[in-house]
Amino acid sequence: MNSHPHSSSTTSVRARARMVERLREEGVRDERVLRAMNQIPRHQFVQEALATRAYEDTSLPLGCQQTISQPYVVARMIELLGAGRELGRTLEVGTGCGYQAAVLACVAPEVYSVERIKALLDRAKENLRPLRLPNLRLKYADGSVGLIEAAPFDSIILAAAAPVIPKALLTQLAPGGRMVLPVGEIEQYLLLIERTPGGSFKETRYDPVRFVPLLTGTE
Ligand code: SAH
Repeated sequence: MNSHPHSSSTTSVRARARMVERLREEGVRDERVLRAMNQIPRHQFVQEALATRAYEDTSLPLGCQQTISQPYVVARMIELLGAGRELGRTLEVGTGCGYQAAVLACVAPEVYSVERIKALLDRAKENLRPLRLPNLRLKYADGSVGLIEAAPFDSIILAAAAPVIPKALLTQLAPGGRMVLPVGEIEQYLLLIERTPGGSFKETRYDPVRFVPLLTGTE
């Protein structure tokens, strides 16, 4: 008998497959993203008391007043980032529990993820260790200024909402690159920014969303 619904790996494999089916029904088409989300054990990234809810399409509290995004939003953002091309060298701002970083590392060849709260980054490291993702690097830093030592990036994704588009991130986006971020304060929406091969920027506005704010400095 399983006292805990996710103590059995078959249970979580099934729950995950159902989550991926739901994502398909909701319109997610990118097979790379769906495959990655079918692989990464989301229940191992949330607090034990919430593990039974890990495959529901909902955001969940992470501690430190932060939240892990709902599966649909993770899928949607990475799909927008990838659309019809390789993700290349990728920067994630806001590691949180490390879930989205793990999904990105299944899809992109090289991923850097930065987090400004030390306690969360340490937890993300523990969550990620068993998955052994050699192409993923974590960094304790304020990502609102990007990550100059690894720039430029072909893809940049923000897991926290910026009141305005951070300038430093635009300059660290390679020509032909794409950035997906939640923008706004009271009202937020997803924004896709494409840097043309010539170097200019094109913006496209997508779904309304609700994210924690992008803050500056570290803690
Ligand atoms: N991708 C995460 C979601 C975490 S929520 C996951 O899968 O769990 C957003 C995260 O962004 C929080 O952990 C918050 O601390 C972090 N954050 C906010 N502002 C930041 C900044 N300037 N630099 C780095 N991380 C930031």
